Amino acid sequence: MLTQGEILEIFKKTGALLSGHFLLTSGLHSPAYFQCAKVLQYPKYAQQLCGRLAEGFGDRRIELVIAPAIGGIVVACEVGRALDVRTIFAEREAGRMTLRRGFEIFPGEKALVVEDVITTGGSVQEVIEAVEANGGEIVGVGCLVDRSGGKARFNVPLDSLAQMEVVTYQPQQCPLCAKGIELAKPGSRKSSY
Ligand SMILES: [Zn+2]
Repeated sequence: MLTQGEILEIFKKTGALLSGHFLLTSGLHSPAYFQCAKVLQYPKYAQQLCGRLAEGFGDRRIELVIAPAIGGIVVACEVGRALDVRTIFAEREAGRMTLRRGFEIFPGEKALVVEDVITTGGSVQEVIEAVEANGGEIVGVGCLVDRSGGKARFNVPLDSLAQMEVVTYQPQQCPLCAKGIELAKPGSRKSSY
């Protein structure tokens, strides 16, 4: 079983979790940058992390795993594989979270919603509503990383492998700028980290 320290180590060594001085897309600065897709590009780690997440749900008689597209899809596949249950995803169509591609939820089906990272929980809440609108029963929510600071709450339990505080600074008040540490823009080829 992976420990909390081993989980963080996997995030760091795959470049999913970086520390330094980063310009976020919001324009704010941060001492940390997290991009979950970086760890999920390795099937071995995806399987380990999602398998660990699935362990917590093994006794809840889950019949269906569902995720919001796109970030949650890889997590759903691996959790669904670990639980050996049908796995689908919901996606936005004209702004609404919808089941497409012939995906179905059967009346009373017990569903687990999974996501890679939860920040506000908005997408997960929309998937919960889509499942319930289709007659399914939500039995839990699982994510690899909870970045909501405890603010994301659903009417079912939320399990996460790791909780990560989001620290941000206004550029004018950034202590890292004050120290003269070079600002990196994650995702750009020029960034040095
Ligand atoms: Zn700064």
